[in-house]
Parts: sequence; structure tokens; C-alpha cells
Amino acid sequence: MKIIAGNWKMNGTRNTLSEMIAALEHIDTENRVILCVPYTMLCTNSGKINIGAQDVSAHDHGAYTGEISAKMIAETGAKYVIVGHSERRQYHNETNAIVRAKASAALASGLTPIICVGETMDEKQAGKTMEIIESGVRESVPDDTNGNIIIAYEPRWAIGAGLTPSAPEIATAHELIANTLTDMGLANTPILYGASVKGTNAAQIMSIPHVDGVLVGGASLKPDDFIPIITSTK
Ligand code: PEP
Repeated sequence: MKIIAGNWKMNGTRNTLSEMIAALEHIDTENRVILCVPYTMLCTNSGKINIGAQDVSAHDHGAYTGEISAKMIAETGAKYVIVGHSERRQYHNETNAIVRAKASAALASGLTPIICVGETMDEKQAGKTMEIIESGVRESVPDDTNGNIIIAYEPRWAIGAGLTPSAPEIATAHELIANTLTDMGLANTPILYGASVKGTNAAQIMSIPHVDGVLVGGASLKPDDFIPIITSTK
């Protein structure tokens, strides 16, 4: 069983979500499918698909105009929330400390945070990939997770760029994350790979050790692109 998570970013409508839910209703898979959609599309009638949000406030309630709390997300029936996506880190200056606070808030309301870590092109070129990944995991994961987290390794330079690291690079990164999580007492945490996953590369990526699934951006928007990823592996 693999986890196939989609990230719709700021795309789609309620209609396109209904169409996706209908298209996925009859596919034959044991994989866990999650769709992280914009807040306005969070809904309970999602058939076989698990619904998630793409961000959450670190605060419980109060004067934080425009923010959405974990409790509000949970109330919609959503079970997951992405935290620390590279676009949040880049455009909203989210640090590991902020990501950790958001993950804590999610956990407190019973949501499973999908915590993203990964290096930028500058960090990669400076030979800092392993350092950034390990500190990302150690500093973004809260202490008391009850085993209820998912990590997504997303090389930031590859997201939406049609680029992917080589299989040995993915294997090395995921092994480091698995070892780091084991050291933190979180050995069974699922680790997803994300960045430019498509129907044509999904099976090969998910055959790499310690790759427990994928986080998919662009190719999760249309059933014709998403279904081949979901059915590429059992
Ligand atoms: C993402 O945004 O998390 C992502 C992986 O995007 P893409 O698949 O489009 O590279």
C-alpha cells in the first residue's frame, strides 16, 4: 500500500473536484489517495478520497484575519493538512519553527500533518542537501506526534519544473530521512517523494527503498494524469 497525495495548490473548482471524486470512485487500488485542495473545496462527500488542506494557522483562534485554524479544517471532515510546502516557505517566509508550530496545531485537532522538507537549488549547489533535509526533519517535526505524521521530501528546485533527482539521489535522501526519524523514535513514519511525479515515472520512484508514496502537484489536477499514478503500483 502506497500513499498517493495530490496538491491542487490554487487550482480547481468545486465542480472539478466533484468530477475527480467521481472519476476515482471505481478505480481498483489499495493505495491511500489524499487530495489537498483549497479551503473552499474542503468537503465531506469525497467518496474513497481522503481530503486535506494545504496550510493551517499555528493559532487556535483569535484576531488573525484570513487565517484558518486546524479545528475549522477538521470540522469539514478533512483529515490531512500539508505544512511547510516549499511555496509557503518561499513566498510566506515559513521557517522550520513556524512549520513545527503549524504541525503541532494540526495534531492537536486530530489532523495528520504532511510535513514538507527539501533543499533549494542554491543549497543543492552548495553541497548542503543532506544538512537541509536532516535539519528540516529535526526542526519541523513536533515532539509529541503520536506517530500521526507524514513526511514529504520535495527537492524545491524540482517542483513544477519537470525535473527529478536521479534514483540514487532520491534513495539517499529518503534513507537519511528514515534514519533521522528512527533516531527521533518515529521509525514507522511514511515518507513521500514529491516533485514532477507523473504516470511515466511514478512506479519507478515508488520502487525506491523508503519511498512510501508520492506528493503530486500538476499531475493531480486531471483524472487522466492522476489515475495512472494511483494505479502504477499496488
Ligand atoms: C508540489 O507542489 O508539491 C509538487 C510536487 O508539484 P509538481 O508535482 O507539479 O512538481
